[in-house]
Amino acid sequence: MTEPIFSIIAPIYNEISNLPELYRRIKEVMDSTGEPWEMLLVDDGSSDGSTEKIQELAAMDPRLRPVIFARNFGHQIAVTAGLDYARGKAVVIIDSDLQDPPEAILDLIARWREGYEVVYAVRAEREGEGWFKLFTASLFYRLIASITDVKIPMDTGDFRLLDEKVVAVMRTMRERHRFLRGMSVWVGFKQIGVPYRRAARFSGTTKYPFKKMYKLARDAITGFSYVPLALATYLGFISAGVSIISIPVVIALRLAGRQELTGQATTLIAVLFLGGVQLISLGILGEYIGRLYDEVKGRPLYIVRQAPEKPQVDNSLIRNGIVHK
Ligand code: UDP
Ligand code: MG
Repeated sequence: MTEPIFSIIAPIYNEISNLPELYRRIKEVMDSTGEPWEMLLVDDGSSDGSTEKIQELAAMDPRLRPVIFARNFGHQIAVTAGLDYARGKAVVIIDSDLQDPPEAILDLIARWREGYEVVYAVRAEREGEGWFKLFTASLFYRLIASITDVKIPMDTGDFRLLDEKVVAVMRTMRERHRFLRGMSVWVGFKQIGVPYRRAARFSGTTKYPFKKMYKLARDAITGFSYVPLALATYLGFISAGVSIISIPVVIALRLAGRQELTGQATTLIAVLFLGGVQLISLGILGEYIGRLYDEVKGRPLYIVRQAPEKPQVDNSLIRNGIVHK
């Protein structure tokens, strides 16, 4: 088989009802490029029969290359595994629920041919999402933009094309708590956005419940910003400042014989306020320390049950314990 020019990475978690349609549309679009392509179907521990469906499709079309995880590791890790195995000169990351229309890949490729090395798709419109998702997503993008050091473009997801140069760099970044959108901006290179219309899910329901979105937000913030760590310092200065100002005020009031500030309420408020500040600061420290601990343990990023012949990364980086026969 000739070396593929394009690699498509699709993370899959219980998407059985979307798989045939995903394959049909990707095939149609990619065949129209006239170039050889491959598709990495990364099964992130599905339990709805997606795994078998992937095997079935791959048996029919050798351009489909399954990467089957031993359990659910999460979307960002699934995409990472795809990057580790992709052989193409340009690698496209796409959701498997058809919210990212495969036809838009052609626009990404057109920009890549002009010389851009990271071509990210920007959501100009979104269909079929509830207000809560839209609201939290918008809040998320704005928060990230205001406190992180890298300029992560607004309203972009993981739907993007990466040149092989970028992929090679990203393969060396083995952090466990990953925010790929940030990482692919952090590396630099020539980047550009292409607007697209984000469709509604073809079928099934979201695999990103609030808990997973919250984790992604925390990973994004801790991965790219130290602002939360500095928060303790700011709050400390504020409460110390308030108490320093309060001392002469209280003394003056006492000397004037006024009784406003007596009683337990004041003490209670001060104690609760400081206690709150200290607990929040501890919690923030904990977020970073927990991540530090995870990195130090150095466990494999993911464990595969089945994967293509050999990864494109050094096995010492991948540390995934696959035995290649
Ligand atoms: N996904 C995954 N592992 C997970 C959760 C999601 O591989 O633990 C995949 C999912 O199958 C889909 C993509 O990540 O292809 C995006 O998930 P989803 O469409 O549920 O997220 P949403 O579009 O609702 O934000
Ligand atoms: Mg989706």
